[in-house]
Amino acid sequence: MSTRVQFDDLEIGEIAIDLDASEPDEVLDWAFDTFGQDEIAVVTALQAEGMVMLDMAVQVRPDIRVLTVDTLMLPQATYEYIDTVREHYPTIRLEVIKPDLEQVTAMEHANGRDFFTQSVPNRLTCCSVRKVQPLVGALRSVDAWITGLRREQWASRAAIRKVELDHDHDGIVKLNPLADWASDEVWDYLRDHEVPTHPLYAQGYTSIGCDPCTRPITEGEDDRAGRWWWETGAPKECGIHCPIETGGFEHEAHALLGADQ
Ligand code: SF4
Repeated sequence: MSTRVQFDDLEIGEIAIDLDASEPDEVLDWAFDTFGQDEIAVVTALQAEGMVMLDMAVQVRPDIRVLTVDTLMLPQATYEYIDTVREHYPTIRLEVIKPDLEQVTAMEHANGRDFFTQSVPNRLTCCSVRKVQPLVGALRSVDAWITGLRREQWASRAAIRKVELDHDHDGIVKLNPLADWASDEVWDYLRDHEVPTHPLYAQGYTSIGCDPCTRPITEGEDDRAGRWWWETGAPKECGIHCPIETGGFEHEAHALLGADQ
């Protein structure tokens, strides 16, 4: 059994400063030099940014672990796209994580299948059960995770660093190598490297999640405006990438669910 690689806030702060101006591949090089074969994974909902990270990671580590969450509510196009990704990257170890079925059934039985549309707390509860908790469980198997987060995606992401200590997930390291990339850079990369992209982008979607909670945006709208579009004033976050200082939505949803969930 390998020894866990751990950092404290001071160490990771210094590394973050060192790597702040680094290119994504340099951040990945540091990560792969630091963490073992099975102790690091790309975590992605297979959207554009995540596919950039996956493609970059494969160049260095062909058998990279890739974790994605199947909430059991994804669009059919996403399930088909998962097959496309497997075919395009036959060497990756793609793990599709699912929620606890008993918990999902109990949640729907108690509240109704569409309860998540009725309030922000309800929605956060659904996201917690279907997405956040399954991922929290999966992250216990790694010392570091790689995301495709970018600062300009949403206000709650504006201060992310390329390397962070993730206090919401047992103090593991969270890598955001694309933190300072613009959307154009993402799409230029995907085109230049012939990376297959989620088919719903061609239908006007700019951020893709669960089927009932995602729609295409209209001209002038923010890229994440199609997520939970019926909500006003709530951050377009599900709790996976919540503010590190507070534990954010994950803790709120946990309180709503009760201590035994
Ligand atoms: Fe539930 Fe919608 Fe969150 Fe998916 S995005 S987990 S359906 S509330």
